Amino acid sequence: MNDSIVSLVYLAAAVLFVLGIKGLTKPKTAVRGNTLSATGMLVAVVITLLDRNIVSFEYIVAGMITGAILGGLMATRVQMTSMPQMVALLNGCGGGASLGLASASYLLAMEGSGYTSDIMGTLAVSFVMFTVLIGAVTMSGSLVAYAKLQELISGQGIGFAGMKFLNAAIFIAAIALLVMLCMNPGNTPLFWTLIALAIVLGLTLVLPIGGADMPVVIALLNSYSGIAAAAAGFILGNTVLIVTGSLVGASGLILTNIMCVAMNRSLTNVLFGVMAEGSEAIDADEIYGGKVKSAGAEEVAMILETARRVVIVPGFGMAMAQAQHAVRELADVMEGRGIEVEYAIHPVAGRMPGHMNVLLAEAEVPYDKMVEMDRINPTFDQTDVAIVIGANDVTNPMAREDKGSPIYGMPILNVDKANTVVVIKRSMSPGFAGLPNPLFAMDNCLMVFGDGKKAVIDITANLDLA
Ligand code: NDP
Repeated sequence: MNDSIVSLVYLAAAVLFVLGIKGLTKPKTAVRGNTLSATGMLVAVVITLLDRNIVSFEYIVAGMITGAILGGLMATRVQMTSMPQMVALLNGCGGGASLGLASASYLLAMEGSGYTSDIMGTLAVSFVMFTVLIGAVTMSGSLVAYAKLQELISGQGIGFAGMKFLNAAIFIAAIALLVMLCMNPGNTPLFWTLIALAIVLGLTLVLPIGGADMPVVIALLNSYSGIAAAAAGFILGNTVLIVTGSLVGASGLILTNIMCVAMNRSLTNVLFGVMAEGSEAIDADEIYGGKVKSAGAEEVAMILETARRVVIVPGFGMAMAQAQHAVRELADVMEGRGIEVEYAIHPVAGRMPGHMNVLLAEAEVPYDKMVEMDRINPTFDQTDVAIVIGANDVTNPMAREDKGSPIYGMPILNVDKANTVVVIKRSMSPGFAGLPNPLFAMDNCLMVFGDGKKAVIDITANLDLA
């Protein structure tokens, strides 16, 4: 096929990817964005199949059918709460694919005339080795992330005190091998050693990280899988692979940064540290001592009866309780009584970015009712009732006021500014950060203890009767 036609179609595919990503930035256009990107990928695959000297279509078609069936089954069966591990698995496949491609390209070159000793040959072999390194780290690291989230292994950090030094040593050794292979590509045993070291590096990098930090790590590994794909694109001389790989690499890095900022943690702290020091020093009894008031569904319904504006604040517990449909029904009943209802969305509520948006969208909550933190925060002081469902850290005023607190500086939803705050959770247990929440002891706060879904259904039933 004519080269310029291929390039033009690749350009069209790249434009579809960019438009797709733009669409994904807003819940309203996300489905369209996804369709645009998927169309771009289809166009890219078809034109690549037509363009290249395909030796045998049988394997490719068999691979595509198997992949489509497996992917379709996984995507339709996965629970929303298991989405992070599915992404981890897909990242691992991406890393593995780049590793396989680079290895095949290297072995083919070794069977043939090898790499030339000029600058172009060195450049070619360096791309191969770089892809091998990143692809293998992404593959093994993502599999560990999957195993942790799926609870196949302990979700706690697994490692020992000097692990950072071991990782640094493996990393330096891998880079040394990479450089040696660039200078002497024919040394195949070194090549296999590089793959083995990179796989071990992926394992030892991710094993010490606690399960709750996995979403940040997954975003980072997603970025690595993109970088590996872009490097693989250079090996194949395939423009669209370079473009998609770069898009994934850049967006993964941006997402990692957004998550770190929203948690007020540095990437080094996530990768090499634990939660900031001092988290154990805060005494919950001192904060709560005799000040926590609990209420039942009937009492909450009575408060809601007279409300004009209510803000619902979902968190990880809403996902655990699968309470999104019950929440939507409560909102319907309130709106039926003329109450204005909005949902406050914190960027890291739940366990992955967009977790709450996706759950609420599943319950058909209109997108314009899901309001981002920066826009909803100024409205809390005009809000009669804030109903917090299974959210904890993202509402903790310590982050705003207590300079000594480990979460100081993390942006939060200012629910405490509402006239009344109703917090639905099962107990006084802390959230992900392991900290007590002074909100629960405030004068304007009522705790409703119980499973999120059941508590919301009870409140709705009482409000219906009122
Ligand atoms: P938290 O983890 O702070 O708190 C969740 C609360 O839900 C718990 O206190 C728990 O209390 C309650 N809960 C659990 N199960 C139920 C249930 N069945 N019914 C009712 N309540 C329940 O959640 P947030 O969403 O407020 O904060 C998210 C945290 O996760 C933040 O610290 C964030 O930094 C972190 N994080 C988020 C990521 C993201 O991308 N979203 C990534 C990595 C970390 P109880 O046991 O008493 O019921």
